[in-house]
Amino acid sequence: MRIEPRKIETTAICPKCHSYTAMRLSNDPHYSFQCIVCNKTYNTAEIKETYMGVFEISVPAGDNFYDSHETSLEEIRSKYDCTYMASVERIEKSIKKYRVEYAWKDGFPESRKLQQMYEDLKAIK
Ligand SMILES: [Zn+2]
Repeated sequence: MRIEPRKIETTAICPKCHSYTAMRLSNDPHYSFQCIVCNKTYNTAEIKETYMGVFEISVPAGDNFYDSHETSLEEIRSKYDCTYMASVERIEKSIKKYRVEYAWKDGFPESRKLQQMYEDLKAIK
C-alpha cells in the first residue's frame, strides 16, 4: 500500500492551534501526530482532545483495496487492539474516494505503536 503519514487523517485536535481536521500521522517516527496547519509534532500523551471524543485514524485506500485485503487489515485491527474497523466511501471533488478507518475506545496507542501500525499498513501488498 503506497501511503504517506501525512495522508493518514486522525481525529486528534492540535493542542497549539486547535485545528481539528489537520492532525495527520507524523513523518517523524518518534512522534504520533503532526499538524498540517502549524506543523508541530506531538506524542500521543500530548493529545488532550479529539474530535467528538473519538480516537480514529482514516487511511486512504484504492478502489477494491478493502475487499481484497480484508484479512490483512483485520490482522492489523486485532494486533493494535482497535475496537472498530470499516471501509468508507466519500466524495471529494466529485470523485469517489475510499478509506479504511480504525478506531480505539479509550485512546490512541503510544507513538511507537502507532508508527509500527503505519509500517504494517504500508507493508500490505
Ligand atoms: Zn496546529
